[in-house]
Amino acid sequence: MIAINKAQSDSIQRNYFNIMERIDQAARVVDRELKVRLVVVTKGQPLEKIRVVLDVGARDLGENYVEEGLSKISALEDPPQISWHMIGHLQSRKASQACARFAWIHSLDSLKLAKRLSHFAGEYDRKLPVLLECNVSGETNKFGFLASQEESWDQLLPEVAEIIQLPNLKVCGLMTMAPYSPSPEDARPYFKHLRRLRDYFKMQFPGGAWDVLSMGMSMDFEVAIQEGATVVRVGEAILGKRTG
Ligand SMILES: *Cc1c(COP(=O)(O)O)cnc(C)c1O
Repeated sequence: MIAINKAQSDSIQRNYFNIMERIDQAARVVDRELKVRLVVVTKGQPLEKIRVVLDVGARDLGENYVEEGLSKISALEDPPQISWHMIGHLQSRKASQACARFAWIHSLDSLKLAKRLSHFAGEYDRKLPVLLECNVSGETNKFGFLASQEESWDQLLPEVAEIIQLPNLKVCGLMTMAPYSPSPEDARPYFKHLRRLRDYFKMQFPGGAWDVLSMGMSMDFEVAIQEGATVVRVGEAILGKRTG
């Protein structure tokens, strides 16, 4: 077990309240009614640090890997009502485990995975909320439905149509990661792009729920909120450098 000292724990608490405040401020500028959900990204972080954010009230935690997530979920079972968010690439063969323990899947990136998730969600007797991960930058190292060229968005429609008809998934919106950059403004066009893509899907499939936009991380969450994020995923700005 990694022990953390008082100074580290104080700093995590300060970071958490500071980020919450900045989220609220950014949201208020956009819309007084807007509620933005903060997912604290705990991948690569020790349990001791995670307990500090739970103590100050965090209840939405994000993990990238199924095994790492599951071991934390069992270790942190005690504090009730944590919603675990799968935000990393999910292999189809881990769909069952993910479905059993995660409240949300942000990283749904193929029809094959969607079918598996819907199948297992049925077995667990749940309707699983998912977001379609979209690659709006076109970077080849990124997962997600390739959506960098607006002219080709229509090619995504047949797959999306199949996914939203799966019986045990609830498609709630879209997720993306902007390319890494030290300047938050560089991310803005990608966030705008995801929002336009969401509007496009909503127009094509008006029956669906397309309200959720999961975008923005430690570096750029304020820009993401300005561009319509309803969920931001923040790790290091709260918990400090990842060690795992
Ligand atoms: C790691 C990660 C984050 C959080 O990144 P930070 O820079 O630590 O805020 C958010 N989203 C995804 C998909 C990630 O993999």
